[in-house]
Parts: sequence; C-alpha cells; structure tokens
Amino acid sequence: MIQIKDLHKSYKMGKNSLHVLKGINFNVEEGELVAIMGSSGSGKSTLLNILGMLDELDEGSYTLDGVPIKNLNETKAAQYRNKFLGFVFQSFNLINYKSAAENVALPLYYQKVPRKERQEKALKYLAQVGLKEWANHLPSELSGGQKQRVAIARAMAAEPKVLLADEPTGALDSTTSYEVMDLIQKINDQGNTILIVTHEPDIADMCKRIVHLKDGVIIEDKKIEQVRAAKYV
Ligand code: ATP
Ligand code: MG
Repeated sequence: MIQIKDLHKSYKMGKNSLHVLKGINFNVEEGELVAIMGSSGSGKSTLLNILGMLDELDEGSYTLDGVPIKNLNETKAAQYRNKFLGFVFQSFNLINYKSAAENVALPLYYQKVPRKERQEKALKYLAQVGLKEWANHLPSELSGGQKQRVAIARAMAAEPKVLLADEPTGALDSTTSYEVMDLIQKINDQGNTILIVTHEPDIADMCKRIVHLKDGVIIEDKKIEQVRAAKYV
C-alpha cells in the first residue's frame, strides 16, 4: 500500500535548513495497523504529513497504492488525497457550527456525492462509531471522545485506502483513549490500513506494529508479537 525509499525532508530556517527526515525506508501492507512513536521533534508529524500529501518530500520516493507521489501539482495532489487518504487529528478539527452529521457528510460533498446519499452515508458512519443518536448535535454538545468518534466517522465516510491519525488520543483521558482505540481496531479489522502517531506506549501496544523514530531515522520497526516477546526475555 505504501512504499517509502530513502526519504529526506528539510525545512528552511532563514539561511539554514533543518534536516528533519534523514533517509526513511518503510513499507506498509494493506490492512496493517502501525504506530509511529518517538520523542518530540523526532519527525513523526513531518513523516505523517508527507504520507498524507500535506507536505512534499525533498529526496527519495513515495508510492501510494501503486501511484508515485512526487512533484504533483496541487490539483492532482488534492485529487489523490481525497481518493486515498483519511485524516484524524489530536484537536478533532470539526466545524463548530455544523452538526455531527453535517461534519461527517462534508468530505462527500467534496467528492460530489449527491445530497441524499451524503445524508444516508453520514448516518451510516455515525452509527458505526455509536453516535447515531447524536447526528443533529453540534460539536460543542459532545464530549472529547464523542468528537473524536465524529472525526473518525468523517474520515471513514470518504472510504479512504489509508487512515492517518496524528495523536488521535492526545487530547483524551485514558479511558476515552482506549474507547477510541477500540474503534480504530474495529475499523482495522474491517481491512482498513491505519497509521497512528502516538507518544503513549499503551496506545502503541494496541497496534499491530510499532515503528520508532529518533532524530529523523527509524531506529526500530517491530511487529507487536516481537515487541511483546522482547518484554519477557
Ligand atoms: P511532537 O511529538 O512534538 O509532535 P514530532 O515528532 O511530530 O514532534 P515534527 O513536528 O515532525 O516532530 O517536527 C520535527 C522537527 O521539524 C522539529 O524540530 C520542528 O520544529 C521542525 N518543523 C516541523 N514543521 C516545521 C515547519 N513547517 N517549518 C520549520 N520547521 C518545522
Ligand atoms: Mg507531532
């Protein structure tokens, strides 16, 4: 699903540049649930943003579902982003004056799905995250966990190939975090490919594979069974 070869990324800082990703090699198969861990500033969000086509890579190659992603113009990039990718953020990024159902329907509007079908799909995906009763409520009437479930329903409504989540539980208490992770696992069980950036080892433990970034390189990349086996040596 995802192939990354010798990926480099720097940010311009005045006259200097900050080399953030320093040769990342990384493949993800369809159906994986991958946690990306690492300390603050290690380049996790930068990597996720490049995978999400929100930012461009400098060197190396990135192939997403067989499509080489490099030097695309903004129209093409937006087209692929809508077709392939769903996003979930720490801060939910819901539109405050729109109801839960309207928020979920929004990406379908951009996909030019007809109105009636948008409404039906919005309700279907809200039901999947257990929030059918909350369809007509505004985000301000929902708890943090409920808001994140709406954001997940919104991402899934567009039926992306890959779901990318940057600290999806970062703003939630631990009980709510586990509930959101249960939902993410359920979505993964349906065959969706998911990548999650997280600081929290307990959250990473609920994934199938853990990748550790340090100073812009991958220092460890293990399946969860290997991680667990190593704990008991
Ligand atoms: P955190 O856990 O704090 O979210 P992170 O691992 O996600 O950290 P990144 O956001 O990828 O880290 O940032 C990596 C480095 O790149 C940091 O030093 C950051 O200051 C820098 N950086 C990130 N985005 C930009 C930008 N748009 N312009 C300049 N520097 C940036
Ligand atoms: Mg980050």
